[in-house]
Amino acid sequence: MKTFNISEWIKFRSNLSKDLSIGFVPTMGALHEGHLSLVKQSLLENEITLVSIYINPTQFDNSSDFKNYPHHLESDISILESLSSDNLFLLIPEYKDIYPDDYAFKVSENNFSRILCGKFRKGHFDGVLTIVLKLLNISGAQKAYFGEKDFQQLTLIKDMVHAFFVPIKIIACPIVREQDGLAMSSRNKRLSEEQRRQAPEIYKVLNQNLNKEKAEQYLHQYGIDLEYLELHNNRKYIAANIGEVRLIDNIDVKEEHKL
Ligand code: AMP
Repeated sequence: MKTFNISEWIKFRSNLSKDLSIGFVPTMGALHEGHLSLVKQSLLENEITLVSIYINPTQFDNSSDFKNYPHHLESDISILESLSSDNLFLLIPEYKDIYPDDYAFKVSENNFSRILCGKFRKGHFDGVLTIVLKLLNISGAQKAYFGEKDFQQLTLIKDMVHAFFVPIKIIACPIVREQDGLAMSSRNKRLSEEQRRQAPEIYKVLNQNLNKEKAEQYLHQYGIDLEYLELHNNRKYIAANIGEVRLIDNIDVKEEHKL
């Protein structure tokens, strides 16, 4: 699998035929089956798939969370290579290249980004929207794949693409879960064995009809601190901390969910 920095990718892309379909999958690495479901869908729907791995500093509101975010570049490369596709390419940007402005310019949304995760992580979605806009422009893709795992992020990205007339189709992919219901996440790698056993309670709470206070009490027994549990447009969203690890999940309340 060929790996590029930004200028190498832009050069490579400019030499490709303009009719070639490109699918793009941006990630922060520490790849798992959730990421791979996006990559596989893109490989099926496009002639070329570009995956990016970049732990974007501007979207972290907390420096220890940024420092402790899992870095697994070597194993990520092996995982992508194990897909054995000649149509798969990897972009690994560097800060100085992707932020030539040192984050002087940013994309801000002042409605949906202010609730749920945005209420607790100041500036988070500015960082997300800014990096995603840069990456979408660099990719040159016609389609970009995002997981419903980060449903608020997915919604804001769709809205940004619409607002700025970005010529790219945003494809939403369903949440991939572990057998016990826990939504796959790179952050799960930071859980101790005991925390990992308790983490599926977050999904269980989401599927019960509990108010915030009852949910808080329920999760507390498992050493989990509820940050928020909220219904918005037929979707129930949750964020909770297990020790230092912050996990999020969501479900469509119109669908029945079973473990
Ligand atoms: P991340 O590396 O966490 O920034 O995620 C990169 C992309 O993978 C985002 O579009 C996520 O929504 C998506 N993703 C992460 N975890 C999952 C999952 N469990 N199921 C589906 N998509 C996921």
